[in-house]
Amino acid sequence: MEHDFAKGVEELGLQIDSRIAAYFSSCIHCGLCAEACLFYTETDDPRYTPIYKLEPMRRLWKAQHTFWGKFAVKLGLSKPLTEQDFADWEELVYDSCTMCGRCSMVCPVGNDIAYMIRKEREGFSSAGYSPVGMQEATHRALTIGSPMGVTLKTLRAALAHVEKDTGLNIPMDQQGADYMTLFSSMEIVNFPEYIESLARIFAAAGVSWTISSEAFEATNSGIQIGSHQAAAELVGRVVNAAESLGVKYVISPECGHAYSAIRWEGPNLIGRPYRFQVIHILELLDELQKSGRLQLSGHTDTPLTFHDPCQIVRRGGVVESPRDLLGKVASGFVEMADHGTMNWCCGGGGGVSANERAEELRLKVFDRKRKQLDELGVTTMVTACANCRIVLEEGIEDREMNVEVIGLTELLAEHLLLPEKRTD
Ligand code: SF4
Ligand code: SF4
Repeated sequence: MEHDFAKGVEELGLQIDSRIAAYFSSCIHCGLCAEACLFYTETDDPRYTPIYKLEPMRRLWKAQHTFWGKFAVKLGLSKPLTEQDFADWEELVYDSCTMCGRCSMVCPVGNDIAYMIRKEREGFSSAGYSPVGMQEATHRALTIGSPMGVTLKTLRAALAHVEKDTGLNIPMDQQGADYMTLFSSMEIVNFPEYIESLARIFAAAGVSWTISSEAFEATNSGIQIGSHQAAAELVGRVVNAAESLGVKYVISPECGHAYSAIRWEGPNLIGRPYRFQVIHILELLDELQKSGRLQLSGHTDTPLTFHDPCQIVRRGGVVESPRDLLGKVASGFVEMADHGTMNWCCGGGGGVSANERAEELRLKVFDRKRKQLDELGVTTMVTACANCRIVLEEGIEDREMNVEVIGLTELLAEHLLLPEKRTD
């Protein structure tokens, strides 16, 4: 992509809203955010201090919005942003931040650094300073409909396998269904067992659902790279499909950033509320279980733990549902020392896993998860995000660990009590 410095600076300036201004004014330079970020803790490199990753935007804010900053510009005493700053910070902005929000949890003045990085990326991507892998994924999402290039034909082939294996009919474009299900490309390509589990659970629980042939992809590469136009286009496709089918709910799958995009950012991106509600698959499964429609039988006593996907748990608020569900089927469930909203990220969210250049750093910071697993000594880890799952599996393989990673929905499907065996 061509570089356009002037456009990048203009966009970066436009991203400085009242929240960003308040955050920069509030920072007391305590450095606590560093100890919360695995890119710092696993490398000891001060450049990976979260607030430092925002230095280009902070300098622009100071020059444009503060008295002393404007004064310094007038006297020629301040250092204006240069193209070299974009080049120097690109790696910090994209490779060393998963937008996991852990630093935001510890900041004593409440600065939401993940939100600020998301905004800073808008300026960087406008300037053309973004990783090639993320640019390509965004281009594929906009042109083909999926960041991994998954087409409707590929999805239909995956669904045909599920139908053959389960004997169930998978509904497509079913007008008036209650729920419209989204998938991430990774589930279609790498974990079709998720789709199969969903189909089996929904059939047993009598859920009225459908997939849209117009919008089945959940991943929003626009959010990850920092392009509100791309993000709005991708959310808009889902909204149009759901509203034309007249569904009551859209189900966000086991994919973290997809959930943030469709549930929390979407209405702002398209400039209006939806005519449906968004629910995460874990919230729905928990509801079905509590209402007695999803019945489970048997327990696994294998010692296992849960990796909390940051966007679903910390930033999305789905903290108790996975634990309630695990409690029903896993008697050997143990929590990591830092669990729930303070869990450590996998190291590959926020588009980091789509950025080949970041691979070495990503595998290095996986040591944080390795330490968490070593402390517990478990050999099974459950998660609820396909991206986390791939990243964790790669880390486990790289560190030659004996740990299996499984999806929560699949674990539940293994313990599904079929209607013919129920006594109710
Ligand atoms: S959001 Fe997560 S990865 Fe990014 S700086 Fe904060 S702690 Fe580090
Ligand atoms: S923890 Fe908050 S106040 Fe402290 S340096 Fe980081 S952003 Fe600034």
